Amino acid sequence: MTEHNHRESAGTAGEATTAVGEPRLEATDIDFSYGDVAVLGGVSASIDAASVTALIGPNGSGKTTLLRTLAGLHDPTGGEIVYRGPPAARRVGYLPQRPAFRPGFTVLETLTFYASLVGGDRADASARLERVGLADADDRQVDALSGGMTRLVGIAQATIGDPPVVVLDEPASGLDPGMSKRVFEIASELAETGTAVVLSSHDLELVDSEADRILLLDGGEIVERGSPDSVRDRLDVASLRGAYEASIEGDLRRVRVQSQGETS
Ligand code: ADP
Repeated sequence: MTEHNHRESAGTAGEATTAVGEPRLEATDIDFSYGDVAVLGGVSASIDAASVTALIGPNGSGKTTLLRTLAGLHDPTGGEIVYRGPPAARRVGYLPQRPAFRPGFTVLETLTFYASLVGGDRADASARLERVGLADADDRQVDALSGGMTRLVGIAQATIGDPPVVVLDEPASGLDPGMSKRVFEIASELAETGTAVVLSSHDLELVDSEADRILLLDGGEIVERGSPDSVRDRLDVASLRGAYEASIEGDLRRVRVQSQGETS
């Protein structure tokens, strides 16, 4: 996180209340390249308080790269991200796509360690565990958890210290339908307490019913944005899946043509 590319906004210190829709992160004209490979091009988006923003798009469209950039884990190659939240010991919490914890510790020990990094204690860690429904798993070894439980511990970890922004990379991937729904409910509960939540997901039905806003990414660019209702209305489709297919169909054809060209 450089000062230039991920800077703090002046004038928001001392802000006491959280109004729905206040920007917490503002990304302007973000480019990102891995060496010569351009992955994001000119992405602008605001991640707002008290709402769940869902990032959807095909595999390889740049969702993880954008989320990592928003979380400040790497700097954009161009453009800037401005944090507009209140002063916080931890501004952004992040759940990686494949969370992993150091083996040999219990769930509660692991979360207490993370809490201590942001000035919290065991009680904070316990409260987070309860929130994700894992209070009974506090003395389980982190390396003996199912994939779903590991992800829930990861969500608890991402929310320790009450960061104003929480970034969740595919928090519901590989979970059974009940647990996926629970993950989206947790995201909504966080939003209800004022947190700006941004998550990626391939579960378009849950995104349609639970997210406040969507950003549809294709080929590293945002091709649709708005509330699920407004996107469906604009594209005159009955479901978010219809909107997704209408928006990326042309590009899928282009990718196929390109890859045929490359192999010939
Ligand atoms: P998504 O999350 O939408 O699947 P990613 O952000 O993971 O997309 O990847 C976007 C593109 O960037 C893909 O083409 C991927 O192959 C490429 N990519 C991702 N990580 C790296 C990396 N470390 N080095 C080079 N290319 C990468």
